[in-house]
Amino acid sequence: MGALTGKTALVTGASRGIGRGIAERLGRDGARVAVHYGTNEEAAKETVAAIESAGGSAFAIGVELGTPGDAERVWAEFDRHADGVDILVNNAGIGASRPFEEIEEKEYDRLFAVNVKAPFFLARLGADRLRDGGRVVNISSGLARSALMPNLVAYSMTKGALDVLTRDLSKLLGPRGITVNSVAPGVIDTDNTAEFLHGTEDGQAQAAAFSALGRVGTPADVADVVAFLASDDGRWVTGHWLDATGGSLT
Ligand code: NAP
Repeated sequence: MGALTGKTALVTGASRGIGRGIAERLGRDGARVAVHYGTNEEAAKETVAAIESAGGSAFAIGVELGTPGDAERVWAEFDRHADGVDILVNNAGIGASRPFEEIEEKEYDRLFAVNVKAPFFLARLGADRLRDGGRVVNISSGLARSALMPNLVAYSMTKGALDVLTRDLSKLLGPRGITVNSVAPGVIDTDNTAEFLHGTEDGQAQAAAFSALGRVGTPADVADVVAFLASDDGRWVTGHWLDATGGSLT
């Protein structure tokens, strides 16, 4: 019996990176996992296969977030496979591809549509599906609390907004025993950061130096934190912003 046996989880953006790490960890802990993805069906199938080959259970849901009616379609797909959810992890997110001086209205709107509006409506439309005693985990960023990378201001603002959702939702859902928390990673080695980490000469060393622990984070570093919050051990932690930056803010 795993800590999450009998539970059902929905992890957005679970085809790759941090979301995949979270989906695999929750699957190993016994949860049946809805592996949400945007466009990369092959990668989502790989996540499902990895969970199943470790003895778990999973299914894939493909809906591009940041499009009209996105959250409604995610839940409609989800409902075809399961009749309630215990753990919602709002992980899917995009970064700003251009610095402050160059960012345009369209890109700003897209950042907010994917990183803020989608999690808001996934939570709003998911509230009735969430079972009492459930969990919501929003994947924020250390940049919501630090001007370490000021050029990414629009992206960081989306995570600040997500953190307000965490705080207020914890009050709204608390009476039902549902906890809501933000987990804030620092630099994690994923496709999202590949250009910075592996495409520049000193990216890896620079990112490692941010952390008090002297290395770049991995998806598993974040997944293990989410697993704690998702488990019964995390029942008394809610409305919290959990620094999972490896000490990059200290
Ligand atoms: P990633 O490697 O780029 O993976 C992103 C995941 O989200 C993929 O599964 C992708 O699906 C999905 N996704 C992206 N845009 C989507 C959309 N419009 N609709 C549906 N799905 C979409 O990213 P990551 O680095 O793992 O980041 C995951 C989360 O952690 C994000 O919220 C990010 O802001 C946050 N974060 C990351 C870091 C870091 O250093 N990596 C640090 C702090 C916070 P497809 O594969 O189908 O495209």
